[in-house]
Amino acid sequence: MAEEKKAIRKKIKAAGEMKKFMADYYLELDHASRTGDKKIAWCTSVGPAEILRAMGFLVYFPETHSAMLGATRMAMDLIPHANALGYSPEICSYLTADVGAYVQGITPLTRAYEIESIPRPDVLVFNTNQCRDVQDWFAWYAREFDAPLVGIHTHRGVKDVTASHVASIAKQMEEMIEPLEEVSGHQFDLDELEQVVALSRECSELWKAVLDTASAVPSPLTFFDGTTLMGPAVVGRGTQQAVDFYKVLLAELEERVENSVGAVEGERFRIYWEGMPIWGRLRAHSELFAGLGACVLASTYCNSWIFSAFDAADPFTSMARAYTELFIVRSDEAKEQYIKEMIDFFKIDGIVYHDARTCPNNSNCRYGMPQRLEAETGVPSLTINGDLNDLRCLSDEQTNTNVEAFMEQLEEHR
Ligand code: SF4
Repeated sequence: MAEEKKAIRKKIKAAGEMKKFMADYYLELDHASRTGDKKIAWCTSVGPAEILRAMGFLVYFPETHSAMLGATRMAMDLIPHANALGYSPEICSYLTADVGAYVQGITPLTRAYEIESIPRPDVLVFNTNQCRDVQDWFAWYAREFDAPLVGIHTHRGVKDVTASHVASIAKQMEEMIEPLEEVSGHQFDLDELEQVVALSRECSELWKAVLDTASAVPSPLTFFDGTTLMGPAVVGRGTQQAVDFYKVLLAELEERVENSVGAVEGERFRIYWEGMPIWGRLRAHSELFAGLGACVLASTYCNSWIFSAFDAADPFTSMARAYTELFIVRSDEAKEQYIKEMIDFFKIDGIVYHDARTCPNNSNCRYGMPQRLEAETGVPSLTINGDLNDLRCLSDEQTNTNVEAFMEQLEEHR
């Protein structure tokens, strides 16, 4: 058996600033929800947040809230309450945990920030680029709050993103302006959108630079760090505060690289994580891998908030392209090409695929991809069965045994 030692993981100092960023973000939303001083738009995690910010909305992302339900392990008790409303245990456990929490009058924001309830939406805006579940999720709340629902319908399984894909999404984005003006009472101003897109692009570049530091040997960063450090890139893109935070974080990581400080002491194996995090096991998995000398250092998931196509000079077209070029939107052929590039760039020894029971959209191991990639690259892989939020789908014992055996395989493969 691979020898598991006490995990030595180096803490990121900037995590304290990140916590403050998230606290300020939720407290501002809570204040607006209680006083009505600002309009609130709900947005999917890779929805058109820039348009909403440019029109003066505060933007709330239910997926981030549901990830908190997962991380705090509240989700399992709440999912059955959404099941009772007709939302299957087999569909997105972000959706079911979040709706279950709402009907039970519970939120992890209370413990974290003394906030009693999630912010009330004035409008809900989705993009189906990630899945159809977000549309159903937002539609449930639109009925509950009697608030307007606006959506973008994106092509899925796209191999090459063409001009016609981009044109159709850009048109849908432009058509959102009128209904959003009606809700916000704020006339759309192209200059404001350009400024927000410029800030989003800067945030995206900094976030990419942060993630790219993991190509150093040893890696200064783990995937598990990244899943929480990405908070400002998800909820704060388009703001100066998010840009400021990532400058501080990047400087810390660059210093680590300069001094050859690894996030995992004695890094022996470099692992790529493909799929959703298992939020309720972040710490356990971080310790498990680190204890075996393995640094899980890069992932498709954290990379999903890199939007390199954003261009302030052409906001609608560039947003349409950026939100359609995402990994989750693409065909297996395009995804495999992407993973091969990641294997080379991050000097990967092995890939862990997370087969998330309730998210087929982020589970890329069900149609032979691991086998095809392994045959082409020679890089071994392991599939873990689990879920993002529903820990009933996970066997800890089996995961630990499989990960240990995988490390032995990697050792032999050297
Ligand atoms: S991509 Fe998966 S986890 Fe995210 S909202 Fe859709 S079904 Fe849920």
